[in-house]
Amino acid sequence: MSTSTFDEIGKVLRKHQRFAILSHVRPDGDALGSQLAFALSLEQLGKDIRVWNENGMLEKYSFLPRAELLSKPPATVEEFDVAVALDTAIQNRLGNTLAAIGSAKIWINIDHHGSNPGYGDLVIVDPGAPATGEIIFNLIKSQGLPINHDIAENLYVAISTDTGSFQYSKTSARTFEIAAELVGVGGLDVGKISQQLYESYPRRRVELLRELLRTMRFSECGRLASFSLSLKTAAELAVLPEDNEGLIDHLRAIRGVIVAVFFEELADGKVRVSMRSKEEAVDVCAICQKFGGGGHTLAAGARVRGTLAEVEQRVLEEVRDVLKRQS
Ligand code: AMP
Ligand code: MN
Ligand code: MN
Repeated sequence: MSTSTFDEIGKVLRKHQRFAILSHVRPDGDALGSQLAFALSLEQLGKDIRVWNENGMLEKYSFLPRAELLSKPPATVEEFDVAVALDTAIQNRLGNTLAAIGSAKIWINIDHHGSNPGYGDLVIVDPGAPATGEIIFNLIKSQGLPINHDIAENLYVAISTDTGSFQYSKTSARTFEIAAELVGVGGLDVGKISQQLYESYPRRRVELLRELLRTMRFSECGRLASFSLSLKTAAELAVLPEDNEGLIDHLRAIRGVIVAVFFEELADGKVRVSMRSKEEAVDVCAICQKFGGGGHTLAAGARVRGTLAEVEQRVLEEVRDVLKRQS
């Protein structure tokens, strides 16, 4: 994989004028926070920016500073000097934003998924980074660009959400240093941000959890846990896709569980598989790659064609094989 330097990317940012800033479908806090922080940084350089995501801004993250900058892509095509993909392991996970880019002279790919193949002309993929937001912070600092309150809050949210609130194993001393700088320089109200992120869920999300727990299953002596969501239940509860984020953590949090899996039936005849591992030796990214997906060693996903029951069976079988080899 070709690896670019921050200076090479900085040069391109200064030289060109029209930028499209994109991230993956079904975005999370890292995707949206990184997009907005990057966009605000370019705005300070006086650039023309478009900030697009297939799903647009999610209700859950609409408190992010300058959230209104981010929209769904238009139906028409626009021309760009530079297109930037953030936090996106495979290019096709940019979804329908791709169709709105008529042309871009240069593609930049900044990400932290180990499974990222390194698409694009300028590539920084750092699997050691706990969040794409951390790479964006380093890029902004290395280019001597200012960090104001709005940029700081977006980056803080990106890092807080992708580290599970500074808990996951890639959280390093450097992560805390960056967070400290963001809180200090940006004058951030951490309590308020945490409340918006972790204590403002709609009631339907907890009702969804109740239904998911009814389907909870264990195998391999409690080392494998899963639950699933059918289209029918999702419709009955009127849940939004974003309501799912983080629910799998309830399975991971159980003592003895090594692999947690969440199956969600989608309207397109596929099933969205979300997987978590608690041991580096059990690489859920490798498992998901077998099903056409990807991600990180301890957190990965895939979209698999088939009915809920079929996909559950095939995927759990694969996980069981890995766990059996492990014990
Ligand atoms: P999720 O379970 O959706 O929170 O995703 C866990 C991790 O795996 C995230 O970092 C995703 O970017 C990645 N991921 C999820 N689904 C896919 C997919 N279909 N292809 C590649 N990577 C994925
Ligand atoms: Mn993400
Ligand atoms: Mn991320």
